[in-house]
Amino acid sequence: MKQPSSVKDIAKNPGQPLAKIETFDQTPLPPPFDDLDLEPSIPPLSDEAKEKYAVVDDTIAVNIKRPKSKEEEEQFVQSFLSGLRKCFSKSDNWTFLQILEMSMEHCAHCQTCSEACHIYEESGNNELYRPIYRSEIIRRIYFKYIKKESTLVHGDIDLNWEVVSRLIELSYRCNICRRCAQTCPIGVDNALLSREIRKIASQEMGIAPKELHKDGSVLQLEVGSSTGMTPAIVKDNIEFIDEDTSERTGIEIETPWDKEGADILLIHNAGEIMAWPENPGAFATIFEAAGLSWTMSSKIVAYDGINYGVWYDDVMFAKVAVHHAMAAKELGVKRIVLGECGHAHKALTVIADKVLTGDLNIPRESSMTVLRDIVLSGKIEFDPMRNDFPVTLHDPCNLVRLMGIVAPQREIIKKIVPENRFREMATHGVENYCCGGGSGFAIMSGHNFADWRHHMTGRRKFRQILEAFQDEPMDIEHPKYVCAPCSNCKGQIRDIITYYDAWEKAGIGYGGLVELIVNAMVDSEPDYIDWEWH
Ligand code: SF4
Ligand code: SF4
Repeated sequence: MKQPSSVKDIAKNPGQPLAKIETFDQTPLPPPFDDLDLEPSIPPLSDEAKEKYAVVDDTIAVNIKRPKSKEEEEQFVQSFLSGLRKCFSKSDNWTFLQILEMSMEHCAHCQTCSEACHIYEESGNNELYRPIYRSEIIRRIYFKYIKKESTLVHGDIDLNWEVVSRLIELSYRCNICRRCAQTCPIGVDNALLSREIRKIASQEMGIAPKELHKDGSVLQLEVGSSTGMTPAIVKDNIEFIDEDTSERTGIEIETPWDKEGADILLIHNAGEIMAWPENPGAFATIFEAAGLSWTMSSKIVAYDGINYGVWYDDVMFAKVAVHHAMAAKELGVKRIVLGECGHAHKALTVIADKVLTGDLNIPRESSMTVLRDIVLSGKIEFDPMRNDFPVTLHDPCNLVRLMGIVAPQREIIKKIVPENRFREMATHGVENYCCGGGSGFAIMSGHNFADWRHHMTGRRKFRQILEAFQDEPMDIEHPKYVCAPCSNCKGQIRDIITYYDAWEKAGIGYGGLVELIVNAMVDSEPDYIDWEWH
């Protein structure tokens, strides 16, 4: 296995990958995917890409072009240092300064975090993917070039284009899932360090993956949604979804738009409207059946809960969050409810708590608790036998680890799935593993990045899914449901199922939680879950 032997290797062999993962470096998956010879391999990065862009391993996420002159190189390094300096200034980084300083100053090098990281594990323990490999680089740069402290105490590191560009690439080899942070006995947050490196690159150097920035945040702020949907188009699409859902369930629904004074402003991840219309259709069916006072907003940005800034850029994050809060304020709703989207939860609840003040600080709630209250209220009758197939539950990192929302989705499942059909993953709840699509990976696919992602970040989740269903017949005649109540996770799980052909070979399908709820509603026509979707 090709891997670096020390942190200082980050400056060596310019233009050459420091690590390369082959399928035979990896631990075989459970049956029927246990033959490594049959597993697809990661196609190599092209020579053209290696010549043109920064290279740290055998894939590329960010496309950082090589400098054309010494001056350009020097400017690149200096702008990184300028951004790093700002990260340690209270006025520039009041949101994250405390935990950042703590994470920089204290690390016992105990490696507990490495054991927790699915990327490190699936890499066959490749040194490049240790959570503290990139943290140690930024730490050494900080102590040597910002604090000007002794390299004898903190370790030495060169600082040039190669180091900085590779460090930025490395910050996109982390799902920012914070499983490592949870296990660190000191409280060091390696995920935050990845995120702060991304932030410096974006805010100070104008460097970010185009899927997140140009085709994500920028598009959302310009037209209203990173899907490209304008207010007119989203209304058209929802009208179509309402009609289709009413026909399939036999329950008439009409999504309310811009209803002033409603109790709830529901914000979906707009990707659901485009890719999984059965999800917003199910939400509307449940909310209407429960008699909730709710609305969606057709205001620009406010019909899309996506906020990619949360992964890479504070300014983009804040702009989107303020749009969401303004729409709620203008409608005079009592609270915002977030649909099935983990990062939208993180953005508009935990992180936005540091940005939304005064009358913009409108109560925000997860759909998981709203749905739990509905399901347990007795307002809707359910027949769990309509979900008489094996079900496992994926825990989105932002719901469980970040926000502690663990029980509500399980209380719902207990009511709508026969008891002997539910299979917990090992491990689950706050100790879950990331789906592998976290921090933007699910929508990133330049060069061979999607293949790298399937092998390195999504494979641990796929392993968990296969383990959860190991006692079941693994064929298409016996459908099994991976319930993933997060749009981003669902996209990643769809991709991994497709990559391994897991529907055809093992009958593994996927969907959200609301689809499973409607599928069990006695008043609905049966078979809301249509396995052919998957
Ligand atoms: S678990 Fe914490 S202290 Fe130990 S190596 Fe990881 S970051 Fe450092
Ligand atoms: S945040 Fe997640 S992906 Fe990143 S280093 Fe920690 S455990 Fe690994």
